[in-house]
Amino acid sequence: MSEMTQHETATETARPIDPAEVALDAAPDTSAAAAQEERETWPAIWKGFRRRCPNCGTGPILSSYLKVRDHCPVCREELYHHRADDGPAYLTILIVGHIMAPALLWVFTTWRPEPLILITIFSIGCIGLSLYLLPRLKGAIVGFQWARHMHGF
Ligand SMILES: [Zn+2]
Repeated sequence: MSEMTQHETATETARPIDPAEVALDAAPDTSAAAAQEERETWPAIWKGFRRRCPNCGTGPILSSYLKVRDHCPVCREELYHHRADDGPAYLTILIVGHIMAPALLWVFTTWRPEPLILITIFSIGCIGLSLYLLPRLKGAIVGFQWARHMHGF
């Protein structure tokens, strides 16, 4: 029993530790090697916010309004495992709320508009800004996950 353990440890230590040889052995498994590469976070977030692939920055990341593509159509980067969940909705509410609530107070105290005019303008503003931000923030979150090798939660 102890001999076998000794033999196993001997083969473990006998393995080549030359980086060139290790890289040559790992060459067929490109996904594992690519998963270890360092990726810059902010450029990936910005590419995602522009609804572009976080890897190449040109391929569209979304196939419909909010559906993330399985692969980038330009660089074939895998995107199917990224899951933003309710992160984009949370960030959308956070940003729209922090823009619209002070604006509502400022418009009301400055001009005292008719209530019907006020609610009409701010309803359209809130919905429009939310629909604009939601897919862009989803792209940004997918870009963040891609940069940090998170592959969803
Ligand atoms: Zn791409």
